[in-house]
Amino acid sequence: MSTSTDAGTSERPNYDDEFDGIVVGAGLAGSAAALTMADRGLDVLLIERGAKPGSKNVFGGVCYTPTIRELIDIEEAPLERYVAEKRYSMLSHDDETAVSLRPGEWLREPHNDSYTVLRGTFDEWFAERAVEEGATLITETTVTGLLNERGSVVGVETDRPDGAIRAPYVVLAEGGNSLVSEGAGLKPTETRENVAVAAKEVLEFPGRDGVIEDRFRLFDDAGAAYNYFGEGAVGDAFGGGFIYTNSDTISVGVAYRIEDAAAHGQSPEETLNAFKTHPAVAPLVRDARTVEYSAKTIPEGGAESVPELVHDGAVIVGDAAGLVLNNGVHLEGTNMAVESGYHAGDAIVRASEDGRTSAAALRSYPEALEESFVVRNLERYAWLQEAVEDDRELLFEDLPRAFADAGTTYFRMDREAKDEHGERAKRAILDALGGWRGAAKLALRYRKVVT
Ligand SMILES: Cc1cc2nc3c(=O)[nH]c(=O)nc-3n(C[C@H](O)[C@H](O)[C@H](O)COP(=O)(O)OP(=O)(O)OC[C@H]3O[C@@H](n4cnc5c(N)ncnc54)[C@H](O)[C@@H]3O)c2cc1C
Repeated sequence: MSTSTDAGTSERPNYDDEFDGIVVGAGLAGSAAALTMADRGLDVLLIERGAKPGSKNVFGGVCYTPTIRELIDIEEAPLERYVAEKRYSMLSHDDETAVSLRPGEWLREPHNDSYTVLRGTFDEWFAERAVEEGATLITETTVTGLLNERGSVVGVETDRPDGAIRAPYVVLAEGGNSLVSEGAGLKPTETRENVAVAAKEVLEFPGRDGVIEDRFRLFDDAGAAYNYFGEGAVGDAFGGGFIYTNSDTISVGVAYRIEDAAAHGQSPEETLNAFKTHPAVAPLVRDARTVEYSAKTIPEGGAESVPELVHDGAVIVGDAAGLVLNNGVHLEGTNMAVESGYHAGDAIVRASEDGRTSAAALRSYPEALEESFVVRNLERYAWLQEAVEDDRELLFEDLPRAFADAGTTYFRMDREAKDEHGERAKRAILDALGGWRGAAKLALRYRKVVT
């Protein structure tokens, strides 16, 4: 079996019928699946359309590593910083009300398995681990469709000169923009209300050593994950903004529902620029230079939009299967991608032991996923999307403003007594919430986000 990397060379070998399995996409889900299958003795072909794994990948981002850590040694992984602080900010037009968490435990190994990474380097490193286990990686190759015989997937069509490559199993790990799975009718096209659009910039601070540590109050490899919501972040759209610290750069971005983007007539780039000028954000990005700009969609349909995961001869993993949790407090997809890739790879290894390729033979994949944190977490927050939509104005406009007004009033320095300030601050919040009854209703409705 070949263990080489064929990066679009002119002398292309013929891979037809050479492999037990083909993985479409060398992102986190694809490499996890390839690594699992190769490690257990299968011949695997990992196909990536980018010049190298990760070169086409966009994310915030914090990579959550509990599953990767189980699969391989991550000591040598290209991690940027561990997350020492999580900060949640409500932004109104020009105010910020924030809560920050810096638990001592996060300073110590394994740092809550939360690290900022740059996907260009991290995905390449992870795919190399699959190659080390024996997988063959080919880059600059796009899968354009699936080969189908009598209702069963039997390989892929590619844009290589030799075109079609047959293999008994295909793992669809193509990310959120899953044209191959959709084109083959293995999953429905995502509806607009289930998709968020994201714009992100990587910023550097030329000639300003130590500026990230100073601005974000960090030392050594400690990093920060700042999350923002409210009208000052993305207007009244359902979504938010973020800043994550890398070693020498910061990642700044916005993500919000594509439907809101269309309704507001504001491009993601304009929304990101407005976010960067908010008085609470501008000092953090002052004098920075943009070194990378990217935009991407995120599947956010949650548990209800997860498609059928197994088909005769094929499985769907990661973002292609809609496995992303975004509930305002947690934005997690990396851990779900790796977990799903692992279980899919494991199911293929089991099915291949007695040469079966049917969907029924691959059922241990969805079954394992249902037992795992992936489906359990998605199901736990399945109700959230609709609730937030109903309360959108309250959550993204009225409450950030009310909290800012209450804070300003409570701490006002004038000649009034503090009990009058306190009373007015309380009124500002209660008025926004619709009195004590409204506050109780809201707390009851959203208690599951944090408990
Ligand atoms: C702006 C943004 C911020 C995010 N922030 C976070 C965060 O902070 N933490 C977190 O955990 N998650 C975050 N996510 C989600 C996370 O990035 C994804 O859940 C995760 O990357 C999914 O991995 P994947 O392998 O399924 O897909 P991807 O990472 O999208 O990988 C898919 C791969 O398939 C390749 N490919 C696609 N089509 C083809 C084809 N036809 N042929 C060959 N190759 C193909 C692509 O080039 C790519 O390499 C964020 C997402 C976005 C967009």
